[in-house]
Amino acid sequence: MLRSPVETGLDKPTRPWQYLLEQRSDIQNLGEVFVSFKHYVGGVWRELGTESSPVFDPATGQEIARCPVIDQAGLELAVQSATAGFEKWRRVPAFDRRAILHRAAASLRNRADRIAALITSEQGKPLAQARAEAMAGADIIEWCADECVRAYGREIPSRDQRILQSSIREPIGPVAAFTPWNFPINQAVRKLAASLAAGCSIILKGPEETPSSVVELVQAFLDGGIEPEAINLVFGVPAAVSTFLISHPSVRKISFTGSTAVGKELAALAGRHMKRMTMELGGHSPALVFDDADLHSAVSILGANKFRNAGQTCVSPTRFLVQEQAYEQFLSGFDAIAASFKIGAGTDAETTLGPLANSRRVDAMKMLVDDAVAQGATLHRGGRRAGNAGYFFEPTILTDVPLNARIMSEEPFGPIALIQKMPDEASMISEANRLPYALAAYAYTKDSGRILRLRDQLEAGMVSVNHHGVGLPETPFGGIKDSGYGSEGGSEALEAYQNVKFVSVLAA
Ligand code: NAD
Repeated sequence: MLRSPVETGLDKPTRPWQYLLEQRSDIQNLGEVFVSFKHYVGGVWRELGTESSPVFDPATGQEIARCPVIDQAGLELAVQSATAGFEKWRRVPAFDRRAILHRAAASLRNRADRIAALITSEQGKPLAQARAEAMAGADIIEWCADECVRAYGREIPSRDQRILQSSIREPIGPVAAFTPWNFPINQAVRKLAASLAAGCSIILKGPEETPSSVVELVQAFLDGGIEPEAINLVFGVPAAVSTFLISHPSVRKISFTGSTAVGKELAALAGRHMKRMTMELGGHSPALVFDDADLHSAVSILGANKFRNAGQTCVSPTRFLVQEQAYEQFLSGFDAIAASFKIGAGTDAETTLGPLANSRRVDAMKMLVDDAVAQGATLHRGGRRAGNAGYFFEPTILTDVPLNARIMSEEPFGPIALIQKMPDEASMISEANRLPYALAAYAYTKDSGRILRLRDQLEAGMVSVNHHGVGLPETPFGGIKDSGYGSEGGSEALEAYQNVKFVSVLAA
């Protein structure tokens, strides 16, 4: 049994990557994938191309592995595999699919410690957060597994007794899915579990910067007994892979998680080929804190969620709109939370704030803070790179940020909170709805009349009042406006991978 680095008892835990390599004899069923990643295509782990890209440890900036880059011939093989896999997998009865997916969830849980080490070594988040991500992934698989036996159609009363009218749901077909590096397991598992539960096959382009945990995730599905050709994992040059797969006539559904800018490009391409799409894009979530709020609760919940995953979360609260009477108390409480984080490598058991996932994010944080200050914002805390190696950035608070500062309209995707003093409910709702982003919105108030007004007036795909209630497997997850369309949770998760077919039969 592989022990986590923290349990080794070493004063300075070995990097999990090295640790895994040293312990290779403990690693079952994965062959060479830890040393030289491979694609999973046509039912085997294989090399499909000659190029590779570097994988870095964000805590040190060191290259720790190479990720393979698939070529065009390899992509064509992946489509052939998904096409053949679809014809087999769609015929597997829903109850059998459910059993297979439950076994996959169990395998994922068994792999959680190893997956946590891999996520942390490539993405940076603290081990406890990485392990929680893996465990939550298993919950998502189980939810989709149980939903697939409830994917009911319906009978529609007819105007003539001899006619039977029904609406049935069928799997769309081979899916092309694209997932990012911020939650390597969570983003991928939502697409894998829902599409496979619905009876589709899938080609997943995993995140090239954080690939190894996704390799483990696919192996968990294979352990469960998924039809091997129905699941395909490739890595490559993102634009080349997406252009090939979205344009390919055999691919029937596109699902993308990432930035709004890229999402719009992919949606335009998918539109040209009349492909169904799910787009889970960026956010700039407002958090409205009213004078009558339970401030202790608001500060602790919002503080934890702002800095979770070092702020690289699409539903991270970003614009804190605090009513005048609550402002000073909220700011000092939030500042205390920001000050309390222990910055360090995710492998260190004491770390509560890991590095950013890549150097692009550090550059972006610096640029956004400098621009905001130049426009007149007050830098209340942080604002600098931390340490002299790796991609660390201090928890940062900006106040009185003018609307023309870039950070007031660009998603920071990092550990920066914008705290604004606001006069009243109307101005707070207006500011909350100002941006084209509309993923999540949060509010803290005890006024039930106001809660109803917020429910109706906040423009967001998800609204959570007095707690952080977004992201459970059983609840819809997705944005509106420039944050995308479609939903990745709840019963809606499977609907995204199903066609509705209306059948009308006149009895002979
Ligand atoms: P980016 O916009 O280049 O990439 C975002 C993601 O899209 C990555 O996973 C990347 O591999 C993928 N991608 C990029 N071009 C693609 C293409 N043509 N076809 C298919 N996939 C493509 O930028 P980045 O530096 O990786 O991330 C920056 C921004 O992306 C963040 O500021 C954030 O706004 C957004 N982002 C959002 C999420 C999310 O959960 N919604 C996750 C990661 C990144």
